[in-house]
Amino acid sequence: MHPVMKPALRRGWRDRETVQFGMTPAHAQTLGPMDPATGDFLDLLNGTRGLPLLREEGRRMRLTAGHVDTLLARLTRAGLVDDARGGGPAADALRARTDVLRRLRPDLAALSLTTAEPGAALARLAARRALRVQVRGAGRVGAPLASALSAAGVGEIDVRDVGRVEPWDVAPGGLPAESLGQRRETAARAAVRRAAPDHPPRRTHSPGSGSGTGTGAQDPGLSLVILTPRDDVAVHAPDPAEAEPLMTSGTPHLYAGVVEGTGVVGPLVLPGESGCARCLHLDRGDRDPAWPQLTAQWRCARARRTGACDLTLATAVAGLAAAHALAFLDGESPSSTGTRWEVSAPGLNWHARPVRPHPACGCGAADRPKQEHSSTGGEARATMAVQRPSTERRRKAGATRPTGTWRAHV
Ligand SMILES: [Zn+2]
Repeated sequence: MHPVMKPALRRGWRDRETVQFGMTPAHAQTLGPMDPATGDFLDLLNGTRGLPLLREEGRRMRLTAGHVDTLLARLTRAGLVDDARGGGPAADALRARTDVLRRLRPDLAALSLTTAEPGAALARLAARRALRVQVRGAGRVGAPLASALSAAGVGEIDVRDVGRVEPWDVAPGGLPAESLGQRRETAARAAVRRAAPDHPPRRTHSPGSGSGTGTGAQDPGLSLVILTPRDDVAVHAPDPAEAEPLMTSGTPHLYAGVVEGTGVVGPLVLPGESGCARCLHLDRGDRDPAWPQLTAQWRCARARRTGACDLTLATAVAGLAAAHALAFLDGESPSSTGTRWEVSAPGLNWHARPVRPHPACGCGAADRPKQEHSSTGGEARATMAVQRPSTERRRKAGATRPTGTWRAHV
């Protein structure tokens, strides 16, 4: 191991013997008491020295080998130390791609904040390259979202849509003005490629493998499907029938879109574990007896019209939905799991609307025992002298999924 203090966290001394790493409540923590020699020693943790050399340098600074080892163990337990050479073979391969790493340096630093083990941040970044995600819908939300995921290092983004690019589809990061009149799908895939110019050529798919936004054949290799319909009824009242093949194949899927001045991110559906589109439909029906007849009318009246969707809201939704998708793909449990986050203009306050598993839905989510989506309860800090100002910290100890993997409980 070649320890390096994670550069993502700013360092500051709270007093003569207490050092604070980080600025924000979510990730900052303090370490102390610390003598000046130990403080100086931290500067040696820059990834250029292995343990034997560090112990030797420590001795020169009158720090015993035991002190150096204990300090490193504490820093490592606190998630403050990365390994400049760790992460495994995939990370090694990515380390050799300096062009990619230079572009994604801020993303790697961000990952170092949500991963504790040395080397894990680069391992996660490398793991993204092997993932496949499908985005259904290439409008103002879908196309920028697909580009963002591509830019963030996800290996393959398969965008599906029908029709040709209309003037109102054009959005920053999404479909460019030059693509007017092109097939939406083709233009969106080009945008995805442009977003990650250093990415190796993607696998091509046979043209007959389904090009609609509807229920195509399910590809078992997909880690996640993101539904970003251009149709606002489908955003407000996602059609359970469309998600049926995803439910059957146990494919995790995330909804995002804009409907009548309201941006929606979620729910992330883990089939059989969290509330799905049918759960949502049934729950709404319980609360509002008119819901079924209203949705039927809305769906029937899908006349050609341009729905209300302001560009800034669409961009915000695309970015936030991409962040939720990435968190899931990285093995975390984002707050959109079983929840719709909604934001309405002009107040723009985000609020959560839970999508409760419905007992009458066949998906089985209601039969599952309560999930421990937040695992803060039993989190005991083993590190004696490390204090985290944050009470909101939600690092799952030992419970993370391998990235990009999720299996349905049938
Ligand atoms: Zn359900």
